[in-house]
Amino acid sequence: MRKKTITGAFLCIAAALTVFSSCSESKSAQEHKKDVFAMDTYMSLKVYGENGKEALDAAEKEIQRLEGLFSVTDGKSDVSRINLQGSAQVSEDTAELITAALGYCKETDVALDITVYPLLKEWGFTAGEYHIPDDAVIDGLLSSVGYDGVTVSDSTVTVRKGGAVDLGAVAKGYTGDRICSLLKEKGIASALLNLGGNVQAVGKKPDGSPWRVGIEHPRDAGRVVCTLSVEDKAVVTSGDYERYFIGEDGRRYCHIIDPETGRPADSGLISVTVIGASGVECDALSTALFVMGRERAESFLQTHGNIDAVLIDRDMKIYMTEGAVACAEMSGEYENTVIKRQ
Ligand code: ADP
Ligand code: MG
Repeated sequence: MRKKTITGAFLCIAAALTVFSSCSESKSAQEHKKDVFAMDTYMSLKVYGENGKEALDAAEKEIQRLEGLFSVTDGKSDVSRINLQGSAQVSEDTAELITAALGYCKETDVALDITVYPLLKEWGFTAGEYHIPDDAVIDGLLSSVGYDGVTVSDSTVTVRKGGAVDLGAVAKGYTGDRICSLLKEKGIASALLNLGGNVQAVGKKPDGSPWRVGIEHPRDAGRVVCTLSVEDKAVVTSGDYERYFIGEDGRRYCHIIDPETGRPADSGLISVTVIGASGVECDALSTALFVMGRERAESFLQTHGNIDAVLIDRDMKIYMTEGAVACAEMSGEYENTVIKRQ
């Protein structure tokens, strides 16, 4: 039986980002589309060019292959074998992604931690059986959490006893990067991938204009706060409005865990979008900046000039790096405060 600590549970698999495209594009180049449900989300892939259909079929296969490696629920995946056995031989992709993710855990001063899985499970985010755990249970589980308990040696990944790896914060970004490379190898110069909150653009639109990606209002689905014009970039959003529940205390508990407290992040930020060249980096950092909160996120951004960000706090105040401002068009009543970098 579900514990009675929930007044409402919500799962919105639709994206936090909206992709705008006009009909005129398809006149200038052949458009091919494919929708895929993978990694617990809807993905939509759109490519232009002659090889489009073949490229999309290959992309779908690749997404399914990577899901088969990174899934935390499929007992045969690399991640599950690590978690069940404590140590496992894994594919090159898994070793590469875990190595990269461990780097981001360190770089973000553990705002990102790929070992929060036992906490995520206890809060009910893995099975939809949401509840607020007792403090003692959280404290107990925190002792098994810590990315420093994960080691990658050649193709063997080991996790500390009682610990578990979850690549939910980075898998879609890595997959997006892989698909962009694959499409380029197939000769595709123009494509847009929307992997449930992770948008990745290959080149520009076929008409030569940039892709336009809207950041959704975190409390009003369908309304767009601002629109970013991008080319050859990843745009990744983490928010507290996709997977969350409202506890009996009336508070919102989201699926991003603060590794320091063992509780859903409650940093004051409700939406974080990161824009950059690397999907996996944007994915890792959108989750991490969400946990950090505005002040810490702003100081992190001071030393990471290769990425841009749009931070939205619970008062709907919007903070943007200068690079984000340069490619953004604000909607209606929204204004932004610029995060200046020295
Ligand atoms: P989404 O998957 O909804 O696009 P994120 O990229 O922000 O959102 O990833 C959230 C997922 O990452 C969670 O569902 C969980 O699997 C995992 N996770 C939650 N908190 C953390 C954290 N602090 N560090 C690393 N992974 C996390
Ligand atoms: Mg992420």
